[in-house]
Amino acid sequence: MKRLLVVLFVFALVVCSFSACKAQTKTEKNPQEDSVPKCDFEKHVIQNDACTLCGVKASTGLKFKLNKDGQSYTVTGMGSCKDTELIIPSVNAGKPVTEIGKKAFYEKAELTAVYVPENVTAIADNAFYMCRALSTVMLSETVETLGKDVFMHSININAVTVSPDNPAFSSDENGALYNKDKTKLILVPGTKAEFEIPASVTTLGNSCFGRSRVLTSIVIPETVTAMEDGVFNDCRVLQSMRIEAQLTEIPYMTFSLCEQLREIVLPETLTKIDKHAFDWCLQLQEIHLPESVVSIGYCAFRNCTSLWSVDLPKGLTELGESAFTSCEKLGKIEIPEAITDIPAGAFSDCNNLVKVVFPTKLTSIGDHAFFQCPRLENVVFPDTLTSIGRYAFYGSDCLGSLVFPASLKSIGANAFDSCHKLDSVVIPSNVESIGNRAFCDPMFNMNIFVEAESKPEGWETKWHYGQRVYWAGQWRYVNGVPKPKS
Ligand SMILES: [Zn+2]
Repeated sequence: MKRLLVVLFVFALVVCSFSACKAQTKTEKNPQEDSVPKCDFEKHVIQNDACTLCGVKASTGLKFKLNKDGQSYTVTGMGSCKDTELIIPSVNAGKPVTEIGKKAFYEKAELTAVYVPENVTAIADNAFYMCRALSTVMLSETVETLGKDVFMHSININAVTVSPDNPAFSSDENGALYNKDKTKLILVPGTKAEFEIPASVTTLGNSCFGRSRVLTSIVIPETVTAMEDGVFNDCRVLQSMRIEAQLTEIPYMTFSLCEQLREIVLPETLTKIDKHAFDWCLQLQEIHLPESVVSIGYCAFRNCTSLWSVDLPKGLTELGESAFTSCEKLGKIEIPEAITDIPAGAFSDCNNLVKVVFPTKLTSIGDHAFFQCPRLENVVFPDTLTSIGRYAFYGSDCLGSLVFPASLKSIGANAFDSCHKLDSVVIPSNVESIGNRAFCDPMFNMNIFVEAESKPEGWETKWHYGQRVYWAGQWRYVNGVPKPKS
């Protein structure tokens, strides 16, 4: 394929050197045009907006906008053009076409092929976004800038072919797109079930495998030193993954929506797992986090509904909000000592979470931190805890009795709402604020023993809902158990 293209380009240059040929292709109808069969799209040799082999002409009817310089055009859309194999003209109304505009061919479901001609230097953001039938892309030697997510959701691209004379980009026999020296992989055709990352590649570009519906396995070789965001995002059938690279970071959305990913071994050099890195990895059952990891981001493991075992590294200092939300199989979690605040939603909707071990210097438990964890038992709060957030333990059906530490100052609204088995609570005298319905049990099983003599000002008037409350003087400890005075 590569050799053939080189030959074709040499042929094109030869043809181009005859000026008479130029005049012919531009002004006269090729008499053989009707009899010469049209070449396969990727075989076209386009010169002056026509194929020198089969005579096919550049597409007509496209929409253009005159650029600010008044000397060139940007193609902005299909206009009246009905071509499914698009050959963008290099010249419009006598002026060069230098750019493909933002979203110019956004969601053009009929497009199967596109040729980006000489003169075009830039392709703007989302230019070919969600062109689901787009299979063949050819870039001329002049294209130097690709915007953001140019081919995002165009998951059936089979090959990108770049002119060997292009100074900024290159392609290979697999139809993958790279920067010129092939140190950065930009796009892997969405039709490849397997792909070997070449040894020249050090950076995996933004979403370069993104949204593949066929990629089943991949090895990240040791030559790779960095990944940009979302490299394997939404690779729905990716099952097997091997990382040989000494990566330090799993960036934003790297494996999110990899619904079939079962196993992954992370490198021992890893320090950071960024936001949404494993969000919606529905089949991921177990993950070993290397001891080098210090940061786990927002929603990093959210919706890992099969994840039953995870050991948080001892050096972990940062745990993001909703990091383990909806990990429905997770049975036990031990929060490392360096964590002093459990962020909002960190373990909400963990239906099978039975045991949580808090670090000894914990000061706060965030809003919704253990929201709807119905099996949570035997929670022991450390004696450094000062605040429990809103809905923090809402719906923890298995909590029986609770002992709050003397350090506790605030309990958020609905913090222990709908904890049906909670039968006994002692509220220490330092608690300054309690939100509405912090204690609320429709079964009215709960006795609340308060160390204060009357309701402090900072407690909401509806801080509990229909519970029996015993103020100081109305209860005492009998063998360490709070009992109402009779
Ligand atoms: Zn042709």
